[in-house]
Amino acid sequence: SGFRYRPEILQGIPDHETTYLKQYEHWFILEPEQLKRITDHFVRELEQGLSKEGGNIPMNPTWVMGFPSGYETGRILTLDMGGTNLRVCRVYLSSRKRHFEQIQRTFKLPEEMKTGTGEQLWDFIAGRLELFLEEHNITSEHDGTIPLSFTFSFPVKQKSIRSGILQRWTKNFNVSGVEGHDVVPQLEAAFLRQKLPVRIVALLNDTTGTLIASHYIDPKVKVGSIFSTGCNAAYMEECKLIPKLENAALPDKASVIINTEYGAFDNDRKVLPLNPFDWQIDGESARPGTQIYEKMVSGLYIGEMLRLILVTLHEQGKLFKGLDITRLRHENSLEASFLSVAELDVSEDLGDMREEFTESLSLSPDLNDLKVCRYLIGLVATRAARLYACGIAAICKKKNMKRCHIGVDGSAFNKYSAFKGRAAQGLRDILDWPPDELDWIALNPSEDGSGVGAALAAALIIEGDHKANP
Ligand code: BGC
Ligand code: MG
Repeated sequence: SGFRYRPEILQGIPDHETTYLKQYEHWFILEPEQLKRITDHFVRELEQGLSKEGGNIPMNPTWVMGFPSGYETGRILTLDMGGTNLRVCRVYLSSRKRHFEQIQRTFKLPEEMKTGTGEQLWDFIAGRLELFLEEHNITSEHDGTIPLSFTFSFPVKQKSIRSGILQRWTKNFNVSGVEGHDVVPQLEAAFLRQKLPVRIVALLNDTTGTLIASHYIDPKVKVGSIFSTGCNAAYMEECKLIPKLENAALPDKASVIINTEYGAFDNDRKVLPLNPFDWQIDGESARPGTQIYEKMVSGLYIGEMLRLILVTLHEQGKLFKGLDITRLRHENSLEASFLSVAELDVSEDLGDMREEFTESLSLSPDLNDLKVCRYLIGLVATRAARLYACGIAAICKKKNMKRCHIGVDGSAFNKYSAFKGRAAQGLRDILDWPPDELDWIALNPSEDGSGVGAALAAALIIEGDHKANP
């Protein structure tokens, strides 16, 4: 038929009506050889990020210099500012090994907060925190303050765990007055304005929290990763292999968690196969030219990618003939969940998928159109998963880890059921382990980096302080 993979889903549609799809296969299907080439370049960029000169990937030292033993104790407040939600937790680490309890509440982060001023954002956060403190009657400790561990899922340059200068906004955030500034005093100033006795004791990335939390549960975990609105990973590195820390006078055997911020991989576009839709998404984003890899992979962009394709095909007279696609023309009207719901539909008439089209887009396509959409969704989502595998494989190659577990958190990972298998296949294609073997590198769902992970990070810091000043 001329198709590289005879797509079963297209059965029943005459080949000549879908020949245009070959172009999409060409754009979206990544062969093992290509994945390997991308991964090898990725390894070089990880190295480059650790050098004094630096490169595309920031490779930020987090100053978390060890994993928890499982016996950490304490009581701490944690706050997570992610891409969509604000999550507040009170975590109790008990003296029983790996035992903890927590209470939590999630607030939606209003869309307008993502494009306002820093003060508006910090005041909003302080307000929600106050609600939580009141709701649970949380009062200050004997020193008059409430310690808080803050998970901030953006690239920051840290000179200690209690500080972090925002390098740049990602995930289409565009809040003024924060880039280039330390976010800790900014948020603490908002606490002060609202007379909250809260003190930030640790600032960490969501990947760092995920790594700590999942290693705490399963010590085979060597990498923490997020696949959600954004995409990133953290791992433990030996300090002597980090040239840019040369002057930090660290103990010989010291290690530190590196927040790679590898969403910035290949920002200079040397190896990633960008197609016209990728260029468009980057061009229309809040920060063109940044996070190129993330824009090809993460949940924030795959819905938009599909939307752009569907609009284009409609305009070429190939899809939704005679239908009103007004809603589909709205930017970001398709979310990643649309793709995952569509792919769960295994019925012959694609009824659930049709319903999803009606509900989200007021569109009711015929069966052939649904089949074509379904095929395109598979192409877009599979490319994302296989590119995601390149980042994980690159860390494993760099650290020479042949067998380990990867703790993965994020809605796009946990809610998109087809994703995990596709990413795992990508890892097999890149790393060439025997096909009949179980996964040598296993992607395991991890949860609660911003709850227990953040609490453990704070506990590790407090322990470290005790060791330094007994
Ligand atoms: C941010 C990272 C974060 C990732 C996942 C990216 O856009 O730069 O700091 O870990 O999203 O939330
Ligand atoms: Mg998050």
